[in-house]
Amino acid sequence: MNAEVKAGFASTGTHERAAACALSVIVPVYNEEESVPHLCARLFATLDSLGKTFELICVDDGSRDGSLGALKAIAASRPELKIVSFRRNCGQTAAMMAGIDHARGDIIVTIDADLQNDPDDIPALLAKLDEGYDVVSGWRKDRQDAAIRRNFVSRVANRVISRISGVALHDYGCTLKAYRRDVIKDVRLYGEMHRFIPIYAAWMGARVHEMPVRHHARKFGKSKYGLERVAKVILDLIVVKFLDRYLVKPIYVFGGFGLISLAISGLTCLLMVWLKLVDSISMVQTPLPILAAMTFLVGVLSLLMGILAEMIVRTYFESSGRRSYSVRETVNFRDR
Ligand code: UDP
Ligand code: MG
Repeated sequence: MNAEVKAGFASTGTHERAAACALSVIVPVYNEEESVPHLCARLFATLDSLGKTFELICVDDGSRDGSLGALKAIAASRPELKIVSFRRNCGQTAAMMAGIDHARGDIIVTIDADLQNDPDDIPALLAKLDEGYDVVSGWRKDRQDAAIRRNFVSRVANRVISRISGVALHDYGCTLKAYRRDVIKDVRLYGEMHRFIPIYAAWMGARVHEMPVRHHARKFGKSKYGLERVAKVILDLIVVKFLDRYLVKPIYVFGGFGLISLAISGLTCLLMVWLKLVDSISMVQTPLPILAAMTFLVGVLSLLMGILAEMIVRTYFESSGRRSYSVRETVNFRDR
């Protein structure tokens, strides 16, 4: 990280501090040197016209082209442009997480660097937030990417995510989203999870709205992703779901599975006795003994793993001072 950029953030980095501006716009940038000047010009045109205090945080995700230089050139004359530069490529989610960690605005807007999202949509998102929503998520209704390989696959993936998460959006992957700071200040993002922020927020009781936004074909550079992202997204979703429901009580998952397995083992033993007594079939003639032994072992091991997981979870909560609940507000606790 560049020294003066780092120094600029050093006193303001943590999100516990009072907000110092109305709006933080966060842009993950990875090898987008041609887009950067257009992007900043478009964003500044929109943001200047809003009449709010704002900051534009560009997170250079270890670009190997001239993106960082292009950003610095603009930052020299626009102090609202702040740059966080990674040593190496850490991924879009990490870039957005760093942006959120450094943001000081009451409202946080995320947008792609490649101008596929339209900066002109930002005022509409903010207007929706003003109506009382905590999260407004863009929906690339008329998506301008490869028809089958991107659009169709993502439509199916979005259905799956919607079903598993219970939060009905059409388009989780759209980066253009606006949040009230308090609903995302505590989220920690890993892997491909930035797209699940609305899900986290909804689970925490936030009001989430989805609105159609414009989407353009990529003009410069190329997409950083291929099909493998779908698998990553689905795996991340399983983790998110698991962490949400069972982080506090992993024994319910492991133990539940273990008990089912032990029950199958018991039933198999009964079946063996039944076959012997009623049909005079010896258990050695059937595969049942193997089934009974395997399910018994799996059952016992799952229970033990559940207990181990419980111990890990306790260490996790106690060592990091985390709580297993999330408080929206308290009343009359003034002296705390
Ligand atoms: N990006 C990033 N780090 C990465 C990959 C992508 O910061 O490792 C940024 C990229 O510069 C762009 C946004 O994430 O601003 C979305 O990437 P891309 O346009 O390649 O994704 P697509 O629109 O094809 O889904
Ligand atoms: Mg893109």
